Amino acid sequence: MREDLEVALEKVDPEKMREKPSVDTLGSGGHFTDHMFRMTWSSQGGWHDAKICPYQNLSLDPAALIFHHGQAIFENLKARRGNGNQLYLFRPADSLERLNSSAVKMCMPRLPVEKVLKALKALVYLEKAWVADVADASLSIRSTMIAVDPSLGMCPSKTYCFFIILSSVAPASSKECKPAKIYVSDDYSRSLTAGPCHGKTSDNYGASLSMSQRARAEGYSQVLWLDTSEHRFVEQLDTANIFFKIDGQLVTPFLDGSIIEGLTRNCVITLAESWGFDVVERKIAINEVLDANKNGSLEEVFFTGADAGISSLGELYYQGENHVVNSGVTGELSARLVLELQAIQNGRQNDPYKWVVRVA
Ligand SMILES: *Cc1c(COP(=O)(O)O)cnc(C)c1O
Repeated sequence: MREDLEVALEKVDPEKMREKPSVDTLGSGGHFTDHMFRMTWSSQGGWHDAKICPYQNLSLDPAALIFHHGQAIFENLKARRGNGNQLYLFRPADSLERLNSSAVKMCMPRLPVEKVLKALKALVYLEKAWVADVADASLSIRSTMIAVDPSLGMCPSKTYCFFIILSSVAPASSKECKPAKIYVSDDYSRSLTAGPCHGKTSDNYGASLSMSQRARAEGYSQVLWLDTSEHRFVEQLDTANIFFKIDGQLVTPFLDGSIIEGLTRNCVITLAESWGFDVVERKIAINEVLDANKNGSLEEVFFTGADAGISSLGELYYQGENHVVNSGVTGELSARLVLELQAIQNGRQNDPYKWVVRVA
């Protein structure tokens, strides 16, 4: 199999460069940069035609399988401006490895992680002017693989397109950090494709939109999903994992196959254990959480993800009732975790776990 992964560089015409947004209009994304990375996979040729090229539309046959059977996977990560005005990627290889485990689940080809990481670093470096020149500004990095065979057959595609796009987002510290109000869904389920190899597969997200929209219309920022079969056990939020501190112990739902193994979740477990906290991964029923809140043993609740960072939860809506957690304020442990993780992510603190990659 020919697998030629020399990455070609095709720069955008300087006259066609996009205008960079000002810091106060950044918000949470949507300002895509001038270039993207893309490559193609075919069953005969493996990965080939790798290039960094001007950000552009994709041209796809209307029969392309992506439009019909949901064969698509993605990953999010961030590049941050940090110590010494350098850019830092957070656990990029782990993110690409997770894309590979999603790929296996969806009968898609695996990426050559080291080569893609090299291309990603080159792309981020090329677009460094898009990271606002203020502390903690970042680029949101979206990696996506889609099935492109023109075919309506119920079988995996034989060709795929992989691409990485970047968008400029506001510094985390500029966002409102009031603890979130979260809506617990006791009727809809999020995860349709639970299985032994959970992944960030696009179909799961599309299916969760209507519930998320209903929650938002009622003033909640995200949905907390319960297990699919009984609607009893806590799983995760739309794009974040969840932690409960109960009687000094940190509890998070164990990875039952439909819960995403969040990289931020893993960081929280690692840091909390290193500080001497007892961390337990187990099933936890929504009623146990609410009982602990009533009897005062629920000390704090927070959720974790590449986008959310570590965000505290101030209120839970469940079956017609609102439950205020920790008087609606940020807990001590989540505040400490936020500071520690941000310091590591911005290269301001030593990084014993080798989570951070500096972009040369
Ligand atoms: C991405 C995601 C997470 C968090 O993963 P991170 O690696 O921490 O960003 C948790 N749950 C769901 C459903 C997700 O999509």
